[in-house]
Amino acid sequence: MTVTVRFAPSPTGRLHVGNARVALINWLYAKRHGGYFLLRIDDTDAERSRAEFEESIRQDLRWLGLSWDRKVKQSQRFDRYEAAADRLRADGRLYPCYETPDELEYKRKRQLARGEPPVYDRAALRLNAVDRRKLEAEGRQPHWRFKLKDGEVRWDDLVRGPCHYHSSHLSDPVLIRADGTPLYTLPSVVDDAELGITHVIRGEDHVTNTAAQIQLFRALGAEPPAFAHLPLLTDAAGQGLSKRLGSLSLGELRADGIDGMAVNSLLAKLGTSDPIRPRSNLDQLIDEFDIRKFSRATPKFDAAELAHLNARLLHEMPFAEAELRLKQIGLEADEAFWNAVRANLAEISQAREWWHICREPVVPVIEDAAFAGQAAELLPPEPWAADTWKAWTAAVQAASGRKGRDLFHPLRLALTGRENGPELKTLLPLIGRARALARLRGETA
Ligand code: GLU
Repeated sequence: MTVTVRFAPSPTGRLHVGNARVALINWLYAKRHGGYFLLRIDDTDAERSRAEFEESIRQDLRWLGLSWDRKVKQSQRFDRYEAAADRLRADGRLYPCYETPDELEYKRKRQLARGEPPVYDRAALRLNAVDRRKLEAEGRQPHWRFKLKDGEVRWDDLVRGPCHYHSSHLSDPVLIRADGTPLYTLPSVVDDAELGITHVIRGEDHVTNTAAQIQLFRALGAEPPAFAHLPLLTDAAGQGLSKRLGSLSLGELRADGIDGMAVNSLLAKLGTSDPIRPRSNLDQLIDEFDIRKFSRATPKFDAAELAHLNARLLHEMPFAEAELRLKQIGLEADEAFWNAVRANLAEISQAREWWHICREPVVPVIEDAAFAGQAAELLPPEPWAADTWKAWTAAVQAASGRKGRDLFHPLRLALTGRENGPELKTLLPLIGRARALARLRGETA
């Protein structure tokens, strides 16, 4: 059977790093096993789902490079969920319930006070047709619960190992609301079954849903997929990430100049004992991926670690990978430029400043005009290469008697107008003789 996984966000907010981690691990699992990665938009909640969030989800996944083989929208599949509900009703596995939220809350409190698990008491199963008509005459619309079978449900979780839940500790889940719309469980299982999902990889907040879902797969005549439940990412302080938490949203990271591959490099390894290294393409991460490497410990996401990794990624990035990124910020740069500046970048957009210094007029900073003029006289003729700097500064040193910082710092200020920057031996040939000469003479060039 071809491995088929899905990432199933609800378009009710922007994706954050925790969502991205689940998406990435699904994607890597699919690629590692030669399978398919599906994007399932869980938009059955018409009130909270928004087209702009769906668009931002697609944009974020593209930014990470996580392409999908197929996209499915749950809002276009309501007929499938109705058909499944009909089948369950016909089999006596879906029953109408009339309790209001307040009544359910009251029952729950009483159970807890008696030290009992707050499991739905199935009172609705004891109603007869007359009772139901009476309740409906009062204006109550039923919601519908899936009747769990008595017994233990087991599965071998790819992250958590053997898991088991006894149905006596579970409430019959509500599948259909009083307004007739399905809640998450039914559409999720129907889609997983009908779309041939072989592995459900998701956050451990869904672990307790899994036992009921396994029963639901069977009730619908489908074999349950394999499951993997990953511990949820927290922020550096150990707090949970919320969808509405702007600073850790992918859109925000992108706006901050973080590279999608820095995010992938971190998220593919958090929660494993593999070292976190900058990887400039997903192929390397596919090769290194094994779902069994993920532990049950809670991984922490640290924005400072990501920023550091982003810088390392750029420092090590070969030109072949950097070229497109430079184009995206409007630079038609060549390899010599990239190799000269990459060690100085914390984010790609900073390449613009060095491009400006190499290719566009710069106001030089002249500390000592006589010294700068003397250095200008000694500039060798072109062609210039990496050793030009050494030969030239040796000549300037001999003529001026300056050395160390006294020698180099004024030259840097004159040539670049900046206190710091990439090594001048690589920058000088990029600046070229005409600009270097003019800048040393104090001219904007
Ligand atoms: N839409 C659900 C969520 O975001 C999907 C859960 C699942 O993967 O089954 O939590």
